[in-house]
Amino acid sequence: MTKSAADLAAAVRDGRRTIRDVAEETLGAIEHREGEVHAFLHLDPAEVRARADALDAGARAGAERGPLFGVPVALKDNLTTRDAPTTCGSRILEGYRAPYDAFVVERLREAGALLVGKTNLDEFAMGSSTERSAYGPTRNPLDATRVPGGSSGGSAAAVAALFVPLSLGSDTGGSIRQPAAFCGIVGMKPTYGRVSRRGLVAFASSLDQIGVFARNVRDAARLLEAIAGPDPSDATCLAEPPEPYERLLPANPLDALRGLRVGLPVETFPETLDARMGKAVRNAGAVFEKNGARLVEVRLPLTRYGIPTYCLIAFCEASANLARYDGVRYGPRGEGGTVDEMMSATRGALFGPEVKRRILLGTFALSEGYAEAYYGQAQRVRTRIRREYADAFERCDVLLTPATPGLPFPLGARSDPVSMYLEDLFTVGPSLAGLPALSLPCAQEAGSKLRAACQLIAPLRHDARLLAAAAGIEAALGPNLPAY
Ligand code: GLN
Repeated sequence: MTKSAADLAAAVRDGRRTIRDVAEETLGAIEHREGEVHAFLHLDPAEVRARADALDAGARAGAERGPLFGVPVALKDNLTTRDAPTTCGSRILEGYRAPYDAFVVERLREAGALLVGKTNLDEFAMGSSTERSAYGPTRNPLDATRVPGGSSGGSAAAVAALFVPLSLGSDTGGSIRQPAAFCGIVGMKPTYGRVSRRGLVAFASSLDQIGVFARNVRDAARLLEAIAGPDPSDATCLAEPPEPYERLLPANPLDALRGLRVGLPVETFPETLDARMGKAVRNAGAVFEKNGARLVEVRLPLTRYGIPTYCLIAFCEASANLARYDGVRYGPRGEGGTVDEMMSATRGALFGPEVKRRILLGTFALSEGYAEAYYGQAQRVRTRIRREYADAFERCDVLLTPATPGLPFPLGARSDPVSMYLEDLFTVGPSLAGLPALSLPCAQEAGSKLRAACQLIAPLRHDARLLAAAAGIEAALGPNLPAY
């Protein structure tokens, strides 16, 4: 599926294509390369065809053909769906079927999107490579020897492999922005609370946010608009209606760049940064400037505390959220004489090692006598990180940083947990502060398909500004990205 969501939707609306035809093209593309990529955990071609035929029948009967009507969208497998399993990439939810659709899934069905399968992820969204799925890794469509990033690696790969134009993921500390960067596409985490988390299986509730993958910024804006809240059943969901993100993009994308103040945080260009990433992002800065934006140097000295703060908060919340998988309420059950034995047999056998590590560390950090020193302290640092961003935004409209410290690494290259956590160096800050952030390819490797990406960050609730700035730099960079 090489077409953009916008072009496909137009073709369906004008009757130039049936949705069944779109479905066949999608399934053909998947059949061709899925054996190599392994983007999906669940994909039933018969279901996709039946859904397409139902949508075509609806269209013939006069159903409204909105901006996503007939457009294929893949869903990360931590979003609940009543007509397909939801496993979170874990054995502990093998075969589990949720009794309800996630809020975002309801919205996509209402919009007439063609739902295409559930995508692979690191178990319970804990990871940065999609190698920690209990169902085998996903490979990077740009170079199959490398990881696609994670945890939403399946959703990123499905878009990058041209299976679907759009997909949904979740981002707790970088799980949309990092895989989008590794797969050379656009990935956006909206402001915390902009999209309802109802039906997103909880990992770290104060950080989890659903967001979008697309191959261009306009498509990303379209999908975000379709899934954004409000939703009274998620207390953290913003009550105000979302803005019409796609319509708010200027007709000439470059217009968004004139006079835009772009902050470059000194601390996000450390000496350890891969030189190619540094060059790629600095070049993006120069392109901003050439198109009328003003570059401003800003300071974010707490950047170095981002990962420890994120780990403490995320692991503590995960240890509480994952307590519910006890062999009683969900999924398969282990053997044991007493209830306690049955529960520990279930959890011991069916959680993977990274999930166990986080549950143990989180439980420890919340235990009596330690909670103040660890969890409490992390919360205080989080408040200061939030303030630091607010101060930086006094001097600029958006921030520009690298999305990742380096390029996609080969499968199997990162075996120790800490080196995997360090992947999130530039993405956890906006997560802790709840800010909208987007990653976008900005340079290309000569003679290969690999790309380097920058991250743009905007103040709270300025998702529309973030998208406009991203569309501007996307247009200014043009389709042939500079080499790094
Ligand atoms: N890679 C980070 C982690 O392992 C972020 C994951 C995410 O955003 N879900 O926790």
